[in-house]
Amino acid sequence: MRWDVVVVGDGPAGSTAARLLAAWGHAVVLVGPGASSERAESLPPSIRRLLRVVGVEEPGGLARSAGNLVYWGTDEPRMEAFQDGHGFHVKRTAWDHYLRGLYRGEMIRAKAKGFDGRGVALEDGRVVEGRFVLDCSGRRGMLGKDMRVLEPNRTACLCGMWAVAGAPEYTMIESYGDGWAWSVPVEEGRRQVACMVDSAVTRLVRQQGRTATYRGELSKTRAFSKMLTGKSPEGPIWGWDATGYTSTRFAGANWLLVGDAGSFLDPLSSYGVRKAMASAWLAAVVVHTALRHPERQELALSYYDEREKQVYQNFRRRTAQFWGEAGDHAFYARRAEVEAFYRQADVVEAWAALRRADGLRLKVAESVTREVHAGIEGNEIVAREALAAPGWPRGLQYVQGVDVLKLVEMAPQCGQVPDLFEAYNRTAQPVELSRFASVLSVLIACGVLRNEYNQGNQGC
Ligand SMILES: Cc1cc2nc3c(=O)[nH]c(=O)nc-3n(C[C@H](O)[C@H](O)[C@H](O)COP(=O)(O)OP(=O)(O)OC[C@H]3O[C@@H](n4cnc5c(N)ncnc54)[C@H](O)[C@@H]3O)c2cc1C
Repeated sequence: MRWDVVVVGDGPAGSTAARLLAAWGHAVVLVGPGASSERAESLPPSIRRLLRVVGVEEPGGLARSAGNLVYWGTDEPRMEAFQDGHGFHVKRTAWDHYLRGLYRGEMIRAKAKGFDGRGVALEDGRVVEGRFVLDCSGRRGMLGKDMRVLEPNRTACLCGMWAVAGAPEYTMIESYGDGWAWSVPVEEGRRQVACMVDSAVTRLVRQQGRTATYRGELSKTRAFSKMLTGKSPEGPIWGWDATGYTSTRFAGANWLLVGDAGSFLDPLSSYGVRKAMASAWLAAVVVHTALRHPERQELALSYYDEREKQVYQNFRRRTAQFWGEAGDHAFYARRAEVEAFYRQADVVEAWAALRRADGLRLKVAESVTREVHAGIEGNEIVAREALAAPGWPRGLQYVQGVDVLKLVEMAPQCGQVPDLFEAYNRTAQPVELSRFASVLSVLIACGVLRNEYNQGNQGC
């Protein structure tokens, strides 16, 4: 049989893409070994939006996460409670099993060896053919590995399990001289505790072995050291490569790199799973469009390629900001240097100016135009208008989930930020105020919008 889509890899990206494409009427086969990492991970509240996309309102039986307890660049903890609901703390074995269970179509329990442009060769000698192949095989990267561009800063994660009770609903994060430590509760009274280190900067003593190195790194922390005093890790110390990477290409004529197969975010963001599921949703939309409307195949594939590159840059930029706050040690300084299409200082200033002003009279800069570009409508890629302005990334339709074209259209009509926020949320997919304010500030910082308020309010 020749399938419409062969999905290689049964992690979050693969299960999500397979589920969506099967639900949209395509013949799908999911290829994967059914194995998962021992890791515990923290998922942000926005994961719930993606779960709704695959038809789950509120997953049962998962531990809730209330936010982060952060010791970042200072000894004073900062409680960062999530503002937009709760996230989750998950054991990847259980989480992956749960997502796989949402897909009820054909599965092949096997590993893929490679793709020759027509068929996917499995390790047991079989070949599976499909009109499209989605590489969702994670860091392993059946196809993606050859197109990979690694970040210059190499990150290794050393992780152990501990019997400690502290902050049961919080992910703990601490920056220290040579890296950062991170801890996720796994179950009542037990947490995984990890250290992320850069082998080029840290004083790792390789000959000592993994456990000694791990304990050596933990001894450089303050809050974590205190929490773990007099205790020992249970069982072995795991080691994972956590170096970031992107790809030179994310899509070809009949293949797409999805989730970690295409790019890997700094784990500090805690957005890896969310990004993998979002990437899977977009890949499903692209493949669905190509199968239903072959005349739009090229448009859809190049849209995917551009978007995935952009997503990586956006996340990288946000993480770089965080590194910038951590301290002036080389470990952080090297990671804070990322180019942006806007300067964060300008965004902060734009927001401060908006707060100082008594009202809004937003004008769209004369240089701003519209151009036809690929965009998403429902579960298809279509050609539609997008914002075009000097310095603005081509076709960028959403910034942090906010539809910028819609926002720019509405901006001149409102006399106060809260009015604009409400008006936007009435007509677009609602977002929280902090995100909305941040994107409005980006548009001002980039010179797309200018606040010319000097008279009374205009009303909405
Ligand atoms: C140390 C560390 C900590 C992290 N912490 C977090 C966190 O707190 N929160 C968060 O959201 N993310 C975190 N991440 C990132 C997160 O784990 C990934 O981004 C996410 O798992 C990506 O999902 P994926 O489906 O693309 O890939 P994966 O989860 O890697 O899934 C790939 C799947 O493909 C299968 N596979 C591999 N090779 C083949 C093959 N040849 N044939 C068929 N199948 C194959 C594998 O068995 C696996 O099931 C962390 C990552 C690391 C390394």
